[in-house]
Amino acid sequence: MLLKSEYLYKRAQKFIPGGVNSPARAFKSVGGVPVFFKKAKGSIITDEDGNEYIDYVGSWGPMILGHAHPTVIKAVQDASFNSTSFGAPTEIEIKMAELVQAMVPNVEKVRMVNSGTEACMSAIRVARGYTGKDKIIKFEGNYHGHGDSFLIKAGSGALTLGKPSSPGVTKGTAKDTLNADYNDLDSVEKLLKKNKDNVAAIIVEPVAGNMGCIPPQPGFLEGLRELCDEHKTVLIFDEVMTGFRLARGGAQERFDVWADLVTFGKIIGGGLPVGAFGGKKEIMDVVAPVGPVYQAGTLSGNPLAMSAGYAQLSTLEKHPELYVELEEKAEYLAKRLRVVLNQHEIDYHMNQVGSMASVYFTDQEVTGFKTANTTDQELFKIFFHEMLKRGIYLPPSPFESWFLATTLTNEMLDKTISAADESLAVAKS
Ligand code: PLP
Repeated sequence: MLLKSEYLYKRAQKFIPGGVNSPARAFKSVGGVPVFFKKAKGSIITDEDGNEYIDYVGSWGPMILGHAHPTVIKAVQDASFNSTSFGAPTEIEIKMAELVQAMVPNVEKVRMVNSGTEACMSAIRVARGYTGKDKIIKFEGNYHGHGDSFLIKAGSGALTLGKPSSPGVTKGTAKDTLNADYNDLDSVEKLLKKNKDNVAAIIVEPVAGNMGCIPPQPGFLEGLRELCDEHKTVLIFDEVMTGFRLARGGAQERFDVWADLVTFGKIIGGGLPVGAFGGKKEIMDVVAPVGPVYQAGTLSGNPLAMSAGYAQLSTLEKHPELYVELEEKAEYLAKRLRVVLNQHEIDYHMNQVGSMASVYFTDQEVTGFKTANTTDQELFKIFFHEMLKRGIYLPPSPFESWFLATTLTNEMLDKTISAADESLAVAKS
């Protein structure tokens, strides 16, 4: 029963647009009442009615060590006694920058911000300032936050100008964002040729997580690296989801392809609002106050946020076995889920990269935006709600990646499989 969630949702809608502070929380893709939560520990999340769920959302990625990890909580508590903000430099910011550099070696300099959106917005400004070029290339179905330059969809023809995907974004902004197809190097090469000497950056999710989870095809990231070198274009890996998740050094380490700039969010803040962008010293030195590219933030490098992030990252840094265990858990879940999906003779495609995974109800291999959109969304809706009834909290959209945490036990994974078995039986009937 979701009686309290229903009541809270009604109350929330009166004073908060759609009752939520970020649209994906509103359950628009799956329908029904969004679940309101009151607490969580490890991989168990408890709603306002007292129902418990196994959590595969993990606050959309940050909670890789599970909720309320004792080291993270203690770090926040300790820091809070010394003031919640100074707006002046602190030692924890240096420790954080040093740790990020140790984990991701090509991040020679890093600037802290307050969200993944800010990190990506700032990274493209830096790339433009550094190269003196205006346009950026992004990929259809990738998400880089809600900065105006990213809310641009492809025009009707492959090489036509982009169009704002949200009112409020100007046509002027749209003309500087070009859309390529994920996993399609030809589409990138064409745009680079057509806009010769005017593409400042290519920004890409090295493993896409915002059209479900889609791995890069062999050679895709390497190809982007080569094209960027050839065209003197800055390669930006948006590792807001993948950073510190797919390996200590994120997707860069996992695929051994190294970008010029990298953006972070989610895990780097341990559940507090943090983002960061960093990379080659030569590029980062265009950032104010060293260089002319303006970028700032009243709460950037906030002591509570830095302490939470530092606690989480240093735990991951000190315990590489956590990545091995997480990988084993994800593989176990994916393998068993495939068995169940096969038994139900449902058309599906499952992608899994480390602790990110997605199930698409389609007969196609999902490698990009078009194929992701072949998924049967009605079937997903039923599956989602049946899983929810059985105590499994999945992302409320077929186009969001599941995030696994180190706190998932084998028992929880087995419970998830049995719930999937029962839910698929209902979904098919
Ligand atoms: N980049 C990627 C890859 C993301 O997944 C997200 C958020 O989901 C963002 C950027 C934006 O981050 P935030 O929501 O912290 O602004």
